[in-house]
Amino acid sequence: MTAAVRPDAGRNNTPYLYGEEAAAVARVLEGGQYGHSEVTEEFESRIAAFLGVRDAVAVMSGTAALHTALLAAGVGPGHEVVVPSMTFCASVQAILAVGATPRFVDIDPVTLCVTDQLVMDAVTDRTRAVMPVLFGGRAIDFSSVRRELDARDIAIVEDAAHAFGSRNRARRVGATGDLTCFSFGPIKNLTCGQGGVVVPRTRAEADTIRRIRMLGVVQSQAERGRTTSYQVDGFGLRYQMSGINAAIGLAQLDHFEKAETTRRILWRAYRRALAGLDGVHLVDVHPDRSVPHLCQVLIPYRDEVHAQMKARGIGVGVHYPPNHLQPAFAQWRRDLPATEQAGREVLTLPFHQHLTENDIDRVVTVLGQALKTVGAASCARS
Ligand SMILES: *Cc1c(COP(=O)(O)O)cnc(C)c1O
Repeated sequence: MTAAVRPDAGRNNTPYLYGEEAAAVARVLEGGQYGHSEVTEEFESRIAAFLGVRDAVAVMSGTAALHTALLAAGVGPGHEVVVPSMTFCASVQAILAVGATPRFVDIDPVTLCVTDQLVMDAVTDRTRAVMPVLFGGRAIDFSSVRRELDARDIAIVEDAAHAFGSRNRARRVGATGDLTCFSFGPIKNLTCGQGGVVVPRTRAEADTIRRIRMLGVVQSQAERGRTTSYQVDGFGLRYQMSGINAAIGLAQLDHFEKAETTRRILWRAYRRALAGLDGVHLVDVHPDRSVPHLCQVLIPYRDEVHAQMKARGIGVGVHYPPNHLQPAFAQWRRDLPATEQAGREVLTLPFHQHLTENDIDRVVTVLGQALKTVGAASCARS
């Protein structure tokens, strides 16, 4: 075996293992619990306990979580879902998967998140759900408009793919009463390899999602052993979380406190280091209440700075190219000035749990040098 090399600032994001994941997977393979199994059910109850909610339903990805949550909320053809354009394309694809249409909404130019005002202004008679995205891990408080949305039978389906562990006041995201969707993909705050969880609002929603994720077949593990046949009770897909993925998630959850602490320390280290740079706006994810998922800055000459930093081995990225400008979503395009400006200016700095504060100092030094070079070049041009 070759010695493992610590992933450094050359990666934008990369998973972090605490050391027990491989043994946990080996136990599942030896026990034959490859598919949905009691390991998946243990993962669900551990996640529910962690979040402080009654129920959590595990599925195979964050996208599947969004898809099944929208179905459980009764969203379908003819309906609109209000969604920021500044999100991962998965949010939009989940809306299209239920036959609804996305109504793209602009963001606050400072937080890169939707506000309740922006969302309420976009609501129409066809709106059946709104899908706020908890960008970078930042919790959003929708309590002031929840009653109005409830009265109009509009569900809040939170895309909390970035925000596992973050808090809204004292409660974890997921425990605030909305349908909440988490992703446990490779680079999220907690990983199952691939996976997702829906926190439903009601028992009925939980039952619906459990049926859909299992091809429409409802049967408990115990029943399956006893009966000779099975019954299809409705629409469904092969969306369940395997025991293999659940075992990875369980091993990660045992160490989540370390993730919270490390992510906060690293994010604050960036904030300190960036404070000395002119012309750089750090997108604040409020690390006191959030478990930071991204570290992003808004800068001039983003493309040039991105290219220069890449050339010097720094794993910068862009989250996200706005969805309303994507070819596949062109028919729902509208004027979203703050989103388009952020799409031009946002730069995602390397952010993962392998980083050291030295790595962060180096990233910020290279960023400062790149900004100086492109600033000087643009002065020379004009
Ligand atoms: C990762 C992500 C998703 C989708 O989750 P997967 O597990 O990759 O399917 C959805 N929305 C956002 C904002 C994400 O970052």
